[in-house]
Amino acid sequence: MKLSTAVLLFLGILALVAGLPHTYDEKGSKVFRVVNTAQVENGLEKLQHLQVNENFDFWTRPNLKAATDIFVPPHRIEEFETYMKDNGFTYTVMIPDVGKLILQEKALNKQGPDMDWDNYQRYETILNFVDQSALSHSEIASVEEIGRTIENRPMIVIKIGTPVANKTKPAIFMDGGIHAREWISPALTTYFINQLVNNFTSYDDMLSQVDIYILPVANPDGYEYTHSNASGARMWRKNRRPDVSCPGVDLNRNFGYVWGGPGTSPNKCSEIYKGTQAFSEPESTAIRNFIQRKSIEGVNWRAYFAIHSYAQMWLVPWGWTYDFPQDYEDLVRFGNAGVAALTPVHGTRYDVGSVTELLSPGAGGSDDWAKGSGFFKYSQTVEVRDTGEYGFILPPSQIKDCALETWEAIRAIAKFLDEE
Ligand SMILES: [Zn+2]
Repeated sequence: MKLSTAVLLFLGILALVAGLPHTYDEKGSKVFRVVNTAQVENGLEKLQHLQVNENFDFWTRPNLKAATDIFVPPHRIEEFETYMKDNGFTYTVMIPDVGKLILQEKALNKQGPDMDWDNYQRYETILNFVDQSALSHSEIASVEEIGRTIENRPMIVIKIGTPVANKTKPAIFMDGGIHAREWISPALTTYFINQLVNNFTSYDDMLSQVDIYILPVANPDGYEYTHSNASGARMWRKNRRPDVSCPGVDLNRNFGYVWGGPGTSPNKCSEIYKGTQAFSEPESTAIRNFIQRKSIEGVNWRAYFAIHSYAQMWLVPWGWTYDFPQDYEDLVRFGNAGVAALTPVHGTRYDVGSVTELLSPGAGGSDDWAKGSGFFKYSQTVEVRDTGEYGFILPPSQIKDCALETWEAIRAIAKFLDEE
């Protein structure tokens, strides 16, 4: 072994052990927006090919109705542009330098031991906040550990509600942060917890209408990884299933309802890798087991919320087929009730419809499983702000506005369920 090779090897091992300062892999990475998919012959299939077979990282799903945003690292830009031109796609540059945006976000985001909604917080801060909230309001709230992640982090659900005599209240379940990089999602789920527990005198009507179970961070390993200094970490989506070449499973493709259907990948290196089998991952398994157990204990599950970003869409099943569920009109009415309360707050517009109607298939999501398993009538994925200007790197200054409007939707939904 030459000396220089030995030194390089040594440095490499050192870097692995110590964790290098952030090298910003994302530097020079771009987000392209494809705008004419509907006009291209087999345009949807051609985009799906890029996602499923070529492992490009799609920030929004391939679709015919809206634009499709695709993240492209510098070394693949030429390949991407050639594919676009050869196939007649028209595209714009949505984000010219993702790395720059991440640096701006890092400079603005102040993380401390105390919870607030002006910044994106670490998992430990979130755990402490949830525990403290329940401890100080034990008459309405309780916390349960529902399982452990691959890296042995606790997954916690907080139950919030006031008991009402002679009434089986409708129950809501909410998963946040299942995709690690969607930082706005845990910010919202914790905001809802704060409103319900720490401001409960303002919302005690809601607490007697429903019981609400919130899993604020469904993928804590991935979430913490996105806050680390590892190269490329901020854009991490999957869990942290170890693998020598391509770690991670997309938890939102790992649920056991039509697992492995359209819009999923068997390739470990894909962002939409489905895992080795349905519920192969401890995180998705913990959610399933909790829902099943509570159902047996008599919980009256009615509505399931998966909180994601971004698109400003209220998506209902199915995500695995273009067919609609039999009660599709009910689901849309339910979604419309939420959006009708959301939009007046800041004028933020949302589309309501099925996943495949508005976007394209992605089987194995928690929303499809919630509906398909029969536990929940009303299941939805809510894709919150924005529509692509910042994408997953939504500035912390938008947390509260986004939270407030979404909160109004949740309140309207509780009322809807109570009156049903
Ligand atoms: Zn997502």
